[in-house]
Amino acid sequence: MKEKADNLVKDAQSALAAGYIEQGYALFKQAIDLYQQAGNQAGADQMARDLKDAQQKNQACAPLPAIDYHAHPIFYSALKQDPPLYMAAKHFRVKPEAFPADLQGMVRHMDEANVEKAVIMPLDTSASGHWAFKGEKLTNDEVAGFVRQYPDRFIGYGSVDPRREDAAQETERCVRELGLRGMKFHPAAVGLYPNDEKYFYPIYEKCVELGVPVQSHCGTTGLYFTKIKHTMPVYYDDVAVDFPTLKLVLLHFGIGGWHEQAMAVAFRHPNVYLDISGASPRVIPKELLLAANTPFYQNKILFGTDYPFVGMARWFAAYNKAAGNIFTEETRDKVFRKNALRLHDVPPVSPLDMLRQDGFSVPEDARR
Ligand SMILES: [Zn+2]
Repeated sequence: MKEKADNLVKDAQSALAAGYIEQGYALFKQAIDLYQQAGNQAGADQMARDLKDAQQKNQACAPLPAIDYHAHPIFYSALKQDPPLYMAAKHFRVKPEAFPADLQGMVRHMDEANVEKAVIMPLDTSASGHWAFKGEKLTNDEVAGFVRQYPDRFIGYGSVDPRREDAAQETERCVRELGLRGMKFHPAAVGLYPNDEKYFYPIYEKCVELGVPVQSHCGTTGLYFTKIKHTMPVYYDDVAVDFPTLKLVLLHFGIGGWHEQAMAVAFRHPNVYLDISGASPRVIPKELLLAANTPFYQNKILFGTDYPFVGMARWFAAYNKAAGNIFTEETRDKVFRKNALRLHDVPPVSPLDMLRQDGFSVPEDARR
């Protein structure tokens, strides 16, 4: 019995060291039970103290090595050159110290929160006619450079202003030459609807061909000088209907009151995902978090913060306190980690192929 308990404690410690925090706690609890069954109260008390210490130490940590699907490598110096973003930071009352000084600072913030990897992206608005969007911005090449510096910590996405003449070519360059693994869009920042056939559709077409996901802002935005009609969830339904094999992630789940609309879109399309970034878990609608436990949403909800606007450690401190048991164990593992891996590693569902496999005669050239 003692040997068994000691082994459990060892396993608990190695789980904690590897970032599998919840698993470590569970093993500690098993060890405590064993000590108690063996009548070793002193051993059980010691274990209970160790467990409490571990919980204290990891109170702002993800329950397992997390993948933050939505993090901006924005340093404070860059914010001062970006009026719409600066206004957003003011609106959200983001403190200057929330911004990392450099990329190392960002990685430190990830370490503090047990975030193993983050998806990082720029936002290209270079074809804008509006003065506020014309400034120097992070580029696709710079994001690719960040990934080269920390290949195990970052997954890079590209971004292209859809109004650029070379938008489709730049998308292809991002993926084939720079090794970026998806594309980011913010329809409101470029003053277009996401279902714009002239500007957006050629890019989606290219993303389907390249087999990479698209992530796009969905819901209200703190980004000033924009119109939020462009980021209403319902317009993404057109995109999903017209590109049934496009992996499409609705960033921010329709935040600001449109989450039901965003859930309605994700509900009916096998390749549409929701990212829960942009809000503390205290204020993410409960029905969305609970829906993650159902088969309709379980594989499609991605954890994200929108760092540095929402801090990673702060997100998990609030989660552990307020929402820590809202997910089943399976959901938790998927939302914080596995869904993001699956998004990048597993091909999209093809509804037409599903019909073919089930014996329907679907025309060879049918696309939707
Ligand atoms: Zn963002």
